[in-house]
Amino acid sequence: SSWSSTGPSTKFELERETELRLEVEGTDPVRVELVSGLAEVFGTELTRNKKYTFPPGSRAAIFTWHGCTVQLWGSPDMAYVSRDTPMLLYLNTQVGLEQMRVQAEREGERGPRVLVAGPSDVGKSTLCRLLLNYAVRRGRRPTLVELDVGQGSVSVPGTMGALCVERPADVEEGFSAQAPLVYHFGSTTPGTNIKLYNKLTSRLAHVFNLRCDSNRRASVSGCLINTCGWVKGSGYQALIHAASAFEVDVVLVLDQERLYNDLLRDLPHFVRTLLLPKSGGASERSKECRRESRDQRVREYFYGPRGSLYPHAFEIKFSEVRVYKVGAPTIPDSCLPLGMSQEDNQLKLVPVTPGRDMAHHLLSVVPLDGGSAEEGIEERSVAGFIVITGVDTERQTLTLLSPAPRPLPKCVLLIMDIRFMDLK
Ligand code: ATP
Repeated sequence: SSWSSTGPSTKFELERETELRLEVEGTDPVRVELVSGLAEVFGTELTRNKKYTFPPGSRAAIFTWHGCTVQLWGSPDMAYVSRDTPMLLYLNTQVGLEQMRVQAEREGERGPRVLVAGPSDVGKSTLCRLLLNYAVRRGRRPTLVELDVGQGSVSVPGTMGALCVERPADVEEGFSAQAPLVYHFGSTTPGTNIKLYNKLTSRLAHVFNLRCDSNRRASVSGCLINTCGWVKGSGYQALIHAASAFEVDVVLVLDQERLYNDLLRDLPHFVRTLLLPKSGGASERSKECRRESRDQRVREYFYGPRGSLYPHAFEIKFSEVRVYKVGAPTIPDSCLPLGMSQEDNQLKLVPVTPGRDMAHHLLSVVPLDGGSAEEGIEERSVAGFIVITGVDTERQTLTLLSPAPRPLPKCVLLIMDIRFMDLK
């Protein structure tokens, strides 16, 4: 194509069991084409002679089991071939999980429920993606459970959710989220409301159990649970809670021996806990980089992964919406109303009066169907998200960015700590 003649181009010959690692920064994307042989990106096979685009901010590895030739266009910040990958260990893990599925199938039991844990940037999401891809390529229908409220892959940041994986992830766009199950959490770290976090974890486990009861294939395929990199204190307790809520069979700990030992000690003996090395390619991301990738997720929600969607902008009156925040600020125990605990306080719906400080916040839309009361709102699934792009206190109106045209459905809005600047 004309593109290939303008950018610098490099050819990489990859030997078996090696990978080409890429880091793309700056402003220009990098393109990659598999010229010969077989290769995959985090478990998704590449199609030969197809150009894949990696936009700025991407990090990826093109791995080959048998050897291949790859052509690259553009100037990535980093592009190098590594022979030192943990892929064989990851593949062995997949083989073990697949054996558990075969056994579950034979014996009418349920398949492996796997929790992936570890500190930040050790490749937890990537390992989940790889194992889900390998499972779906074997004809399974595993569920991805996303408990990472900071860098989740099911929906926008500040949410928790689950997704039934029916085909391998798209190399450029990840798993397609046709109808994910999504819950509002409201911030990017579980620590802001650990009570709500644990409650939603239990809720997801409950809904997954119901699905397994009615869908044998989903039950046999099991799930992969991606978690946050916060592994100390309440973050650690939240991992233990998730393991017990989902009644996990396998825990994969990436990189951190101490976490592995703690989990080995604290989880029931029938849970198989494994320590796996992290990939040298999973490198630390700066705060800035994490913020940018969160922004990118929100942008993709409204504008589509390729910028092909057109969100709607419209005004509504203050009086037309009911906005809440989940969780009241903690107050001294002595000031709590009689019979109320600090924990109840964390699940309380606190009304928020529309005003200037609502500008740029992301809000979850929780539909109220058929006159249902507002009780238990925090435990209901979310239909979508809006951003408040403008507030006019004089005219008492809010301007919204919304994926759907007006009017908003009959709903309650839950406000997030997360802000998004719509610069498009
Ligand atoms: P967090 O705790 O922040 O969610 P994480 O542990 O889930 O992080 P990942 O998001 O899976 O980590 O990986 C961190 C980054 O490293 C990602 O950008 C990912 O694409 C990249 N990465 C992972 N494995 C490789 C690899 N083998 N080669 C190149 N890049 C990689």
